Amino acid sequence: MTSFSLPHKGLDRRLILGLGLMLVPLVVTCLLSVLLLRSAGATYTKAGDESAKDVAVALRFRDAVQATQDYPAAVAGTGSPAAAARFRRTASTADAAMRSLALAGFDQEREQALAAKAARDWRTARAAGLTIVSAGRRDSLAALNAFYVPAAASQVAIGRLVASSLAERDVDQGVIARQRSRELSVLIAIMLVGCLLAVSVARGIRRSIARPLGQLKTAARRMGAGDFQDRVTLEGGPELSQVADAFNTMAGELRDNQAQLVHQAFHDSLTALPNRSLLYDRAEHALARERRGHGRVSALFLDIDDFKGINDTLGHAAGDSLLVEVSRRLRAAVRAEDTVARLSGDEFAVLIEGCEEGVAVQTAERIHDILDAPFRLQGRDVSVRASIGVATSSPGSTDADELLRHADVAMYAAKEEDKGSHRVFEPHMQAELMQRMELESSLRGALANDELYVHYQPIVNLDGRSVTGIEALARWTHPQRGLVPPDEFIPIAERTGLIVPLGRRVLERAVGDLAALREALGDDPQTQALRVSVNVSAVELAEDDYVGFVESTLKAAGVPPELLVLEITERVLVEDDESTLVRLWQLKAVGVQIAVDDFGMGYSALAYVERLPLDIIKIDKAFVDSVGSSEDEADLAQVIVSLGERLGLETIAEGVEQADQGEELRRMGCRFGQGFYYARPESLASTLELLASQAPTVSAL
Ligand code: C2E
Ligand code: CA
Ligand code: CA
Repeated sequence: MTSFSLPHKGLDRRLILGLGLMLVPLVVTCLLSVLLLRSAGATYTKAGDESAKDVAVALRFRDAVQATQDYPAAVAGTGSPAAAARFRRTASTADAAMRSLALAGFDQEREQALAAKAARDWRTARAAGLTIVSAGRRDSLAALNAFYVPAAASQVAIGRLVASSLAERDVDQGVIARQRSRELSVLIAIMLVGCLLAVSVARGIRRSIARPLGQLKTAARRMGAGDFQDRVTLEGGPELSQVADAFNTMAGELRDNQAQLVHQAFHDSLTALPNRSLLYDRAEHALARERRGHGRVSALFLDIDDFKGINDTLGHAAGDSLLVEVSRRLRAAVRAEDTVARLSGDEFAVLIEGCEEGVAVQTAERIHDILDAPFRLQGRDVSVRASIGVATSSPGSTDADELLRHADVAMYAAKEEDKGSHRVFEPHMQAELMQRMELESSLRGALANDELYVHYQPIVNLDGRSVTGIEALARWTHPQRGLVPPDEFIPIAERTGLIVPLGRRVLERAVGDLAALREALGDDPQTQALRVSVNVSAVELAEDDYVGFVESTLKAAGVPPELLVLEITERVLVEDDESTLVRLWQLKAVGVQIAVDDFGMGYSALAYVERLPLDIIKIDKAFVDSVGSSEDEADLAQVIVSLGERLGLETIAEGVEQADQGEELRRMGCRFGQGFYYARPESLASTLELLASQAPTVSAL
């Protein structure tokens, strides 16, 4: 599953970075201003310092003068020596101040003049003051006037001096500094506003982008973990609501899709039945409940017989509708709480809980009954049968896999023994199945390695016992098991399709060996009429190129077609398949002879014999066995011989083991016989020997 990753952390970082970049010019401007102001400030401070020094000197002088102003009057009034002493002290302080003033070194001419005037006036006032002090109160008024006028003039001069020095020296610097400081204030204000704006923009972005993205991320992550239940609500404007709506719609659709996927993962798309996974899951749960005392669990495995044939002849659409109908009928045959599952192609399973084996078997019987009604496919009634395997859990068993495997094995056994029936699992079935599977792979190997060979059993004329033909019988010596009887490996070969290469190998060998025998035995009429019989199974006959293969094989060996007899079992012919009929006529047209093998074996529809291009009837051993006894089947042999006579067909009695059987059959009108009494199947060399003993001229093979 794809996991969503919304980069809101990265966004945060980028946001902060952007805001930081916005602040950089502000900060730089401020820093520059501060630096400029600092230099302006330094100048200002320096200038200020100097002026302040001058001003302080001037002020100190003014204070001293002021302190002495009232004094002459007081002294004149009282004439107190202590007051006179205080005046002198103050006057000397003012003197010192005046000296400093003189030393201050004013630059401008006007300043210098002012300072000089102040000093002059002071000196005049001081002299007047001293006069007052020394005169006592007598000339006080004149003395006071003499003191006050120059003192006031001195003060005025100093006041001007202070004013001029402040104005001229420092006003410019002060103005610049004030201007800069105003600018700085504006800058700082801008910066503060900028910061506030940036912070509020950041908060806004965070609220309307980063946080919603974070919410979406969390929701997406939860969705990734399979939780689609949460609905996202995003606050911060109609766009975000739309995003939330779209997201919720998407989550809803994903939830539906997921539910659909889960359903698909556990159900078969054609029939909507639970599939194998769900069946196993339910079987496990059922077994877990069984352990808590809920009764035993049974599984039925069902396989439609010859489904491939239906698919091949009626087409896949018909096959599909058959499967749908079968699934419908199966559902109808069981309780609602039982599970009916489709495992693969034509394989179904039923899981029944809380039941004993008897109930499971009854269910299997009910399924047979319910499938008995014909299926309507493409306007035709088709009858369908199924093989069913039944397995019931043993108390305390836990293994769902084992239970279902047992049902499967039992189904195979049913199919093997009697198609369209059901079997209850028994432990030996498993071993047999294993053995069959082993045999199957060995047979595959044997075919690939050309380990199969052919023996020939003579067919004799019951009149004079001369050999008129030989039947080719496949033989297989298994490296470990030794000789495996054809009755065991032929059905496996038929089921797996290996019969096609096997049958062709036998036919090639048989035709080739007949050519060799004809070559070796010379050309007396009896030898030249010798026929070879080859068994052909329905699977081979169904192959499109079979007729061509037979024809070319005969041609390659130089054997006349009428010397080849193809033996086809009655079962194949009874099925009355259109294509088989066509194939038989084609073979007939090539010139080969056709024999119906194992004739009379439980198939009562003898009428088909008339419609087929047959030459020979081989009477099954079962009827031959009863010949000579008083049993009813003995009469059947007679019936078959008569039928053959009436239809102008040759009759060959199979499995003649006793002399009197042969005799009796001959008396009945049967012309040919085959059986251990006359000869067992033997190798080509032995067969040649036997034939040579009858033939006049024999050359070596
Ligand atoms: P089948 O075609 O009916 O062949 C006759 C079988 O009866 C042979 O068994 C033969 O050995 C046996 N038999 C002959 N006389 C007697 C007798 O007096 N007493 C007894 N008890 N048996 C006798 P085999 O060779 O074991 O073959 C069994 C079956 O396997 C054949 O029955 C045939 O259906 C099938 N088969 C053998 N070879 C081939 C083959 O190449 N292709 C195909 N499609 N089937 C083959
Ligand atoms: Ca045969
Ligand atoms: Ca036979």
